Amino acid sequence: MTEFKDNNVKASTKSVWAGEKEYRAFGASQVPVVHSVAYTYDDLDHWYDVAIGKTKGHIYGRNTNPTVESFEKKVQELEGAEAATSFSTGMAAISNSLATFLRPGDRVVSVKDTYGGTNKIFSEFLPQMNIDVMLCETGNEAQIEEEVNKGCEILYLETPTNPTVKITDIEKMVKIGHDAGALVFVDNTFATPINQNPLEYGVDLVLHSATKFLGGHADALGGVICGSKELVEQVYHYREINGATMDPMAAYLMIRGMKTLHLRVRQQCESAMKIATFLKNHEQIDQVFYPGLEDHPGHDIAKRQMKDFGGMFSFSMKGGLEAVKLFLPKLELANRAANLGSVETTVGPARTTSHVENTPEERAALGIPESLVRYSAGIEDTDDLIRDLTQALAYLPEPVAAKSY
Ligand SMILES: *Cc1c(COP(=O)(O)O)cnc(C)c1O
Repeated sequence: MTEFKDNNVKASTKSVWAGEKEYRAFGASQVPVVHSVAYTYDDLDHWYDVAIGKTKGHIYGRNTNPTVESFEKKVQELEGAEAATSFSTGMAAISNSLATFLRPGDRVVSVKDTYGGTNKIFSEFLPQMNIDVMLCETGNEAQIEEEVNKGCEILYLETPTNPTVKITDIEKMVKIGHDAGALVFVDNTFATPINQNPLEYGVDLVLHSATKFLGGHADALGGVICGSKELVEQVYHYREINGATMDPMAAYLMIRGMKTLHLRVRQQCESAMKIATFLKNHEQIDQVFYPGLEDHPGHDIAKRQMKDFGGMFSFSMKGGLEAVKLFLPKLELANRAANLGSVETTVGPARTTSHVENTPEERAALGIPESLVRYSAGIEDTDDLIRDLTQALAYLPEPVAAKSY
């Protein structure tokens, strides 16, 4: 399935080389950005053969584009997939994938802790189309199994979750889903293909917001899915008609960003582990949510199914939301922004980032404290980041004993 002669080529090497060679032009060593909307043909029979898919080639930019295809091939190699297709955003990847396979009367089982936008699709848009959605307690395997066994077309998972970084046992869920005849989807955005390859456990579709770690520089939006040719082609068909196509310039930025994916992720994991440990022992911090910490409920599963624990963690503060408002602006080495996975450390309260679409009541029901801060470790020096946190936390008054949420 791999494009490399050597079957043992590692993810780091794939990040750099995969998906590129067949898309270079004019002897250039880099993939070009092909901005052309359409492709010209002097031979009408050739044009027809490309149009019906008999011969390789491109017809129109909403369907395919060489730069975009190169990006898809790179992710496909990294996930060890048979096929991949891309989208204008991560949410487009998610909504198009769901819309491809769901019909009125169908049922989806998922967990409460999915990305805020995904959660909105489940709570607002799918019910409008007469699709029933059951959101289980994340990590409650018995409940998920029971609900799946009542019948469902899709078991939709995200692990680790955004923003509470909960872990779901992929292998176990695949068995439960497949035994009930459901397709199993996993949003792999937080883990990245460097740390986790859900297809290895039999997952049907892996989804990514490429906007985050894959691009890695917070300068391009995109989404991508990987899976079998049979499933991916169906989603591709939905997307080519409905039009949530990735822009070629975004694809170029993704390709360029992904060349350093393995280096960035390695540094981000190392920093996340050290900073999570530092914060856990800090008097101002209430709880730290990071699967790399041994007391995290998903630690053992994460250890089994992930190569490393990822660059994302979150924490709540003893001083509540007021403490967050005071301390977060004092950080010098962090963007206070609604994204993650970038080379710069990025922080934000869940209530203004991942779950801004939800009401305080909904957030409480999802187990998200109002003082929860999402921390996406960048690639800066770890000690510099810890010193920055130390000086910012020093602005806070002595912590009160009781939780204020
Ligand atoms: C950001 C994100 C998405 C949505 O991606 P966009 O590119 O912003 O549309 C989906 N899932 C997860 C886990 C995310 O972090």
